[in-house]
Amino acid sequence: MTQKTRDQIPAKWKWNLKDIFASKKALDACEKDILALADTLASLQGKVEKDPIKAVETSFKLSRAMGSYLTFSRMQQDQDGANTAYKAQMAKAGALMVKARAAGAYLEPELLQLSEEKLQALKVDPKHSQYSNFFHDLIRTRPHILPTEQEELLAKSGEVFATASRVFNVLNNVDLPLPETLDESGKTSKLTHASYGEKLRSKNREVRKEAFEGMMNAFGNFKGTLSSLYISSVKNDVLHAQLRHYGSARKSSLSNHEIPLSVYDSLLKEAHKAFPVLDRYLRLRKKALKVDQLHLYDLYVPITADFKMDIPYPEACKLVKKGLAPLGEDYGKLLDKAYKDNWIDVYETKGKRSGAYSWGTYDSHPYVLLNHTDSIDGAMTLAHELGHAMHSYHSNKAQPYEKAGYSLFAAEVASPCNEILVSRALQKEH
Ligand SMILES: [Zn+2]
Repeated sequence: MTQKTRDQIPAKWKWNLKDIFASKKALDACEKDILALADTLASLQGKVEKDPIKAVETSFKLSRAMGSYLTFSRMQQDQDGANTAYKAQMAKAGALMVKARAAGAYLEPELLQLSEEKLQALKVDPKHSQYSNFFHDLIRTRPHILPTEQEELLAKSGEVFATASRVFNVLNNVDLPLPETLDESGKTSKLTHASYGEKLRSKNREVRKEAFEGMMNAFGNFKGTLSSLYISSVKNDVLHAQLRHYGSARKSSLSNHEIPLSVYDSLLKEAHKAFPVLDRYLRLRKKALKVDQLHLYDLYVPITADFKMDIPYPEACKLVKKGLAPLGEDYGKLLDKAYKDNWIDVYETKGKRSGAYSWGTYDSHPYVLLNHTDSIDGAMTLAHELGHAMHSYHSNKAQPYEKAGYSLFAAEVASPCNEILVSRALQKEH
């Protein structure tokens, strides 16, 4: 069995990126806007004290246009990482991003030369309330913003710093050679990121074992590459923390989300406290599966003897809508819209990015990328990602662009909440 290509999937199961840019002409017009805004922003350097709002306003306009351009290019590439036209478009977006960032690199350092009183006044100015979060963050991160020339240097090297994650994505989604392994039917089929999960849930231990070993060996063959990429990524984080005077990479990362270190520590502590429960569960699993030794490939197969629950995608859509009924009628209608109006890219295809996410731009509806498998996991992933999508939809609807963003820490509230509601609905039924 070979993996399907994108054109073998009916349009109704693919997202429609034309809702971001309807044509190449629209995309090119956006590029022009970005270049013009970057020029305007650059020309305001040295004039921030005179008119801080003008510079901030231009910077937000630029990031809004850049956001659309970059998101479109990245999502297009996520459809097929091997497509050279998509790759070229993405490279263009990356270069444009560097240009945009460099054009505004002076902004925060220059704003910080204003007096504390002036910044506080700007933060609470009712005429420009859309910028209050921006000024709040600026004041909060004052000790970590560098002088203009250094900020410019960092902005220009942004793409280079992202090399490790870019290389990993290409390896993982495009170049990683995965073997044929045993499948449920007793024959072999090509291991893919999506079929991997399915095979790990097989009742047949050989199917699970072959899939597991096939995947681990595939990565194992790139041990040197992967460890080098990981080291680069860690060094990157440490260097950024040092350059911005954060004391540690952990502190730097949490600061982006305004989370105190104590929250991180208590999360870890509570997770550790629950180890005995996990231990008990693993022992129970070992007993139920009647195996001498519980392997990593034994952790996903259902432990009840007669359990089989195939949930094809249309069924998963219905199940998710039913589970989320407590969230109200409007929420249900929005789910229908997401299903019908091509917000969701459903199936795994050759070269498509693995995993799942929700994304989109402020000026478009949210999108969801899936690699759906007909299982409970597949349905739960749909529920989870739609949680993010609906969160974004409402945030964009209720807030001006400048205030619509939210941190990852807040993001992972709506999504597990949806999973809990859907699993409750399932429990009621069975
Ligand atoms: Zn999530």
